[in-house]
Amino acid sequence: MLLHRLYRAVIMGPPGSGKGTISGRISKSLGLQHISSGDILRANIDAQTELGLLMKASIDEGQLVPDQIISRLILGELTLLQHSSWLLDGFPRTLSQAESLEESYSVDTVINLQVPFHIIRQRLTSRWTHLPSGRVYNVDFNPPKVPGRDDVTGEPLIQRDDDTPETVMRRLKAYQTQTEPVLEYYRSKGVLETFRGTETNKIWPHVEAFLHKKFAVVNKGVA
Ligand code: ATP
Ligand code: MG
Repeated sequence: MLLHRLYRAVIMGPPGSGKGTISGRISKSLGLQHISSGDILRANIDAQTELGLLMKASIDEGQLVPDQIISRLILGELTLLQHSSWLLDGFPRTLSQAESLEESYSVDTVINLQVPFHIIRQRLTSRWTHLPSGRVYNVDFNPPKVPGRDDVTGEPLIQRDDDTPETVMRRLKAYQTQTEPVLEYYRSKGVLETFRGTETNKIWPHVEAFLHKKFAVVNKGVA
């Protein structure tokens, strides 16, 4: 679909709710640039940048990195995408981050994925990631074609250091206390759209239909 104006979207949901997978599909189906804070941080850790080395310990423990650092990092990425429509995944995660974003951009739509707690816990501990692309697999219901290898590149998959059971619990707690207020923030602005379900493949058609409809309206508005 060709977009006639710049579109700013955010995707939210607890860790393991399928944000990464759905974001990939949104960016393919609607042509938005996908920016994942977690993927950017992991790329920094992998490349052993100064920032990556500084942040690795708190990420591995399931703690959020400081607001100022992540806000500067993500807003910096966005200045490189002035002329693109984008979808933010994993940012903003606190009210302070949401306010920093709002100073520079107003968000058109926030997609909120609501997935039951027990499903999330099970998913996160059986998940494998292709680090360079952010593609995720699940040994139970979405296995790679060749065990331990990425379907597209054939490169090795890794299990994230922060997908251990204790760390998963800590990340879910951080989500409840620090990120749920951000949902309220966007709800009060009238841009929050919630999708509930237990399977990404069943949630996706609803997200896609919603966005296509929304974009069609936006485009008509400027035509
Ligand atoms: P998932 O990728 O399964 O949705 P998640 O949302 O917990 O899980 P990521 O978004 O990949 O994971 O982030 C991994 C870690 O990176 C977080 O636990 C946190 O330590 C750090 N992080 C990512 N984004 C932010 C952010 N906006 N603010 C603070 N810390 C962040
Ligand atoms: Mg993610």
